Amino acid sequence: MDGKRMRKRETGGNARAEGGDQALGMDCGITRRDFLNASLLASGGLLLNSASPAELLAAQDAAQGKSSDDSWTGYGGVGDYANSNGNTRAVLEAGHQIRDGLFDSQPTGVVETGETYDLVVVGGGISGLAAALVFQRQAGKGKTCLVLDNHPIFGGEAKRNEFLVDGHRLTAHQGSALFQVNYPHSFIERFYQSIGLEKPRLEYQKWAGPGPEIALTTTPYLASAPYGLYFGAKFGQPQGVWLSDPWGKKLEGAPISAKAREELLKSQSPSSALAPRYRGDAISRRLDTMTLEDHIMESRGISRETVRTFLSTDEGGAFGLGADALSGYTAYAFDGFGGLADEEPQMFPDGNSGIARLIVKTMIPEAIAGERTLENVCRNNVNFAALDRAGAAARIRLDSTAVWLKHDGEPEKSESVTVVYTRGGKSYRVKARSVIMAGGSWTTKHIIRDLPDDRREAYAQFYRSPCMLANVAVRNWRFLYKMGISGCQWFEGLGTYLQIRKLALCGTDSPTIGPDSPVVLTIKVLYSHPGHSAEEQGHMGRAEMISTPFREYERQIRQQLTEMFARSGFDASRDIAGIILNRWGHAYASPAPGFYFGKDGKPAPGEVLRAAPFGRIAFANVDLSGMPDHKSSIIEGNRAVEQVLDRVLRD
Ligand SMILES: Cc1cc2nc3c(=O)[nH]c(=O)nc-3n(C[C@H](O)[C@H](O)[C@H](O)COP(=O)(O)OP(=O)(O)OC[C@H]3O[C@@H](n4cnc5c(N)ncnc54)[C@H](O)[C@@H]3O)c2cc1C
Repeated sequence: MDGKRMRKRETGGNARAEGGDQALGMDCGITRRDFLNASLLASGGLLLNSASPAELLAAQDAAQGKSSDDSWTGYGGVGDYANSNGNTRAVLEAGHQIRDGLFDSQPTGVVETGETYDLVVVGGGISGLAAALVFQRQAGKGKTCLVLDNHPIFGGEAKRNEFLVDGHRLTAHQGSALFQVNYPHSFIERFYQSIGLEKPRLEYQKWAGPGPEIALTTTPYLASAPYGLYFGAKFGQPQGVWLSDPWGKKLEGAPISAKAREELLKSQSPSSALAPRYRGDAISRRLDTMTLEDHIMESRGISRETVRTFLSTDEGGAFGLGADALSGYTAYAFDGFGGLADEEPQMFPDGNSGIARLIVKTMIPEAIAGERTLENVCRNNVNFAALDRAGAAARIRLDSTAVWLKHDGEPEKSESVTVVYTRGGKSYRVKARSVIMAGGSWTTKHIIRDLPDDRREAYAQFYRSPCMLANVAVRNWRFLYKMGISGCQWFEGLGTYLQIRKLALCGTDSPTIGPDSPVVLTIKVLYSHPGHSAEEQGHMGRAEMISTPFREYERQIRQQLTEMFARSGFDASRDIAGIILNRWGHAYASPAPGFYFGKDGKPAPGEVLRAAPFGRIAFANVDLSGMPDHKSSIIEGNRAVEQVLDRVLRD
């Protein structure tokens, strides 16, 4: 290879224009389901932002000429998570029955389980699992806890996909990915240690060649490893132009205006704006009155056009929307990710699924076979039967959507809460002496039937945005290596970046990696619609994500990769071994201005929900923090348990 840098390339064909489905390999046998030809619903005249999700799915079925089946969910891979890629169709339908009012009153024919728990946790993501574990430890012997989660496996956004490619088992994350090495005496570090993550610095694959080593990262995010920028038709380059070492070369050769170049270079230099000194100081409060977009423009002297074209999902991506809809404080809210800033972020092969599995193994030791080592927890299968055993102090009930909760009597005086959940088309009732709502704002606000106005108004200020994480298994990544890069970014088409990462050894088959290794490319798709409110953007994005058939996304993935990499040897029909789509309808908490510190003299919505339990119900989930990180999920879960123990349970 000629050094580690790729040269600007101006030759090669544009498969988006030239290639048909056959050239893209749409008919090749890969690990996905084969679907009937489907057309994008939008072309059928359905108004995406006015139709309900159920209508969108029904219309999709009609377009595909078939009755309801699970072709929308698509292939889920192999292993424990094979039936649980993103929000599956079953999850989505159960959730939207709540929103559409099917459970406004308790359904008839509810099966009485006769069960009473000291704590019922709604939501089996990291927040709910952490709450259950902390409760098990602190409430004392004899106290019981049930976790209800609507997916076929626990973990929430912290789940994995697994592929089998040419005899190799490949693992990737479905959502929540990296963790940080923390201060050694911090609460989170102690929590990690208590679940068996004693050594948070993981060991990773080593370079195997052939050829000189190229730097790789430990996470799927672009970092200091060599990467390129791609400019296509949107920039008047139908044949595509690559730029390597973009910042080192000061964007020389980028097909963009001089103004955009100058502004992008400014975006890379330190900002002149004063950063908040602590959360809640005057600077952070001012930032929370403006959008992130206005903050970037003001602090860096960059035009709105440049922000929207190049920087928006970069800056706002961790919050799911473009910068125009987010609070300016999101630029600094990431202290939850903080950790030791000089340490490289860490990642299990399956992302924070590893953390979820460690919590479950600690709480229910038989849930995963073997001693509690990182290797066993990453590699051994989940024993689903052990999760919900009669008589156990801690139980996890899957495929169970909580749809109706209400105190039995006046909230402040009642002795219990009735919880109704649906499972396999039937409704069940359990009693809870206390409840932690860890499922997230989008269902919590609907299912607590006696939720008072102040909490209801608080939840009305939470906006969640969709995200689709497409995991694409490829037989090798020579096409990137040949260009001297291990990651890249682009500004048109599907997704915006991808990065090859070395995997932690605790959960991967191969101790080495090289350009010939099969790997999973993760493409994150966000749905920002600049100019609309955060709430509207969430609705529009979900409609688009729900209504796009698998086959259409598959085509777009093949087109995107072909357009960018065909000239360096990528062949979609030969190289793509499998595709899994993880569609998350309410992936990210997207804090709008006013979310962090309140507006119009009112307190911040998260504070209203954190301040105290409502009767016997306390609130958790990452969204209360306005920070997209699992550490906040754990902290919120822990705080909710403390509230339940301090103020709710009397014996
Ligand atoms: C694409 C993406 C990438 C991310 N990357 C990172 C990262 O790199 N590092 C990091 O630390 N964080 C990351 N995050 C943030 C992530 O949100 C947190 O790390 C964490 O996984 C959230 O856990 P949680 O339990 O708070 O919420 P969730 O994971 O959303 O868990 C809530 C669970 O409750 C279920 N539920 C909701 N309502 C009900 C109901 N009524 N009945 C039953 N179940 C219900 C949900 O379906 C879900 O399973 C990422 C998030 C996304 C979307």
